[in-house]
Amino acid sequence: VVNNLDVVKSKVVTVCPYCGAGCKINLCVENGKIVRAEGANGVTNQGELCLKGYFGWDFLNDTKLLTPRLNEPMIRREKGGKFEVVSWDEAISYTAQRLKEIKQKYGAKSIMHTGSSRGTGNETNYVMQKFARAVTGNNNVDCCARVCHGPSVAGLQQTLGNGAMSNSITDIENSKCLLVFGYNCADSHPIVARRVIKAKEKGAKIIVCDPRKIETARIADQHLQMNNGTNMALVNAFAHVLIEENLYDKNYVANFTEGFEEYRQIVADYSPEAVEKLVGVPAEDIRQAMRTYAAAPSATIMWGMGVTQFGQAVDVVKGLSGLALLTGNLGRPDVGVGPVRGQNNVQGACDMGVLPNEFPGYQSVTNPEIRAKFAKAWGINADDMDPNVGYRITEVPHLALEGKVKAYYIMGEDPLQTEADLGLVRKGFDALEFVVVQDIFMTKTAEQADVILPATSWGEHGGIFSCADRGFQRFGKAIEPKGNVKRDWEIISLLATEMGYPMHYNSNEEIWDELRELCPLYYGATYEKIGEMGHVQWPCPTLDHPGTPYLYKDNHFDTPTGKGQLFATAWRAPAEIPDEEFPLVLCTVREVGHYSCRSMTGNCAALQTLADEPGFVQMHPEDAQRMGICDQQILWVESRRGKVISRCNYNERINKGAVYMTYQWWIGACNELTQDNLDPVSKTPETKYCAVRVEPIIDQ
Ligand code: SF4
Repeated sequence: VVNNLDVVKSKVVTVCPYCGAGCKINLCVENGKIVRAEGANGVTNQGELCLKGYFGWDFLNDTKLLTPRLNEPMIRREKGGKFEVVSWDEAISYTAQRLKEIKQKYGAKSIMHTGSSRGTGNETNYVMQKFARAVTGNNNVDCCARVCHGPSVAGLQQTLGNGAMSNSITDIENSKCLLVFGYNCADSHPIVARRVIKAKEKGAKIIVCDPRKIETARIADQHLQMNNGTNMALVNAFAHVLIEENLYDKNYVANFTEGFEEYRQIVADYSPEAVEKLVGVPAEDIRQAMRTYAAAPSATIMWGMGVTQFGQAVDVVKGLSGLALLTGNLGRPDVGVGPVRGQNNVQGACDMGVLPNEFPGYQSVTNPEIRAKFAKAWGINADDMDPNVGYRITEVPHLALEGKVKAYYIMGEDPLQTEADLGLVRKGFDALEFVVVQDIFMTKTAEQADVILPATSWGEHGGIFSCADRGFQRFGKAIEPKGNVKRDWEIISLLATEMGYPMHYNSNEEIWDELRELCPLYYGATYEKIGEMGHVQWPCPTLDHPGTPYLYKDNHFDTPTGKGQLFATAWRAPAEIPDEEFPLVLCTVREVGHYSCRSMTGNCAALQTLADEPGFVQMHPEDAQRMGICDQQILWVESRRGKVISRCNYNERINKGAVYMTYQWWIGACNELTQDNLDPVSKTPETKYCAVRVEPIIDQ
């Protein structure tokens, strides 16, 4: 493992900023510019990179950017007015003054904050949540986990005790059965996908549950090409088979789980024969999948947005963990449950307490002893801390329209591109009195800001990321920033100080050490250890602890009783099902060459060339031909919330009755169409399912 984080002449070891696989990269630098990226020998990538890792750096050289890089602080003093470049002193004092006025007039709860799951690092996320809790005085701090794996965190915390992957990315290739559910790893985490291929080469059985014939389906032993929106029914049917056919591990269930009787009764109604029409998969295939899964000496469940971006996502996560509990596939190497986190540091943002219900280290904000601990460390009065769970980012549009949220401090997020039902989000933004955007690019959200605070980018600073398997990894600074920009945590510290809470940090390590002292889960993960080992997985409670490759050793779960909680519930239909007017299901998906809102990858020449127009709407040829639509024809795609232009892309690998679009294209943003039906627990929107129609714009 390459651990040298110093600038070694022209090569700097960093960690890829584009997905939770946590690949290590050598950035090669000449004359202050990055000239090349090479795969470094990281624990998770072992020298390999995908195309985003190889080509996702050239925006740092500031050449021919499609979107301007933010280089100077700016203020827009009137709504609808023009941005004015100002000094840092003025930007900080103006922002602090406005935030103080809003807090005084409407109360602390009226201010919302985001951390960032992208290139800024764990240290900054720690400082941002501290700002919310100690300076503003609320728990209104959240991140994009809300629109991706928030349900995995909420669901797994209830059933197993920890919201993260129970296993390691390196484990995947040694598992003898992979149940890949709603997870297109080839597009989302290409280097994780290589582990799936390696597992197959080593003899693993692969079962894919997905409406599309994704890449993994091509190597799968079974592909259950299920109907969109039927996850809970299929998971219940899986449990039904495990119990009815006596495939489950009775000793494990008796000794290490709770709730079996109720669970058994609920899934009794979900025989494969009863659900095959709803799910769209023959009963015998459902049965065979569970015979394979239960027979494997080691089995791992992996899932992605195909599970979590539904209105019933938390239930499905809990149901999936139930399959692992029923078969004893937890608490040892090469087994487990893997919600593979999407953005490179979304695990880290959650680890750092950029969550409205938890301090760093997953410590509850509603626990008075925990609040007292943080208050003491931060030099504030515990009675002044907010004892209630804060707002989620997906609630902000509604809360703004109700007048409850008045100011929004957004760091490294682009809600006006990435959140469901953009028409609603825009209305919410219009109702806000004050928006601060701290970012590296003029995103759609930045365009609406009252103040812009320009930050350094990945590549221009170092720090620690958490990859998807709970591994802390240090990443290095490769080049000096070019504009009048500052490190994110420095900007937050300046604001805090200006608002009357002196905050001064000299280094990432100083922040990290403050965090470690407050978080038993991370206490032993020192900067030095992470540098030496390259990858330290929490829990790492003591200085001599090597980190934890898999959770729940000895089958002790981190639940109140120490037992795994079996859970099943009835399937609920998605909120908006197709009808005559809007006859197709729209499902949002990823584009392998681009990342998130595309602000970074869309400004990289090679990636633009490779994936220039991710604005296609994928249609099954039979559906399209029935509607008289040709391949590549320009279309309107319309839902009850909006209408966007797109281009038809015939795709035989998708299911009939559904169309697929990415959210990464600036013009035809599919979030104009999606709906914000939120999971009741995690408040994650149902961006994987809404009803649309398509209509040709130009006759071919
Ligand atoms: Fe690795 Fe993900 Fe970066 Fe690709 S995008 S190089 S898989 S971390």
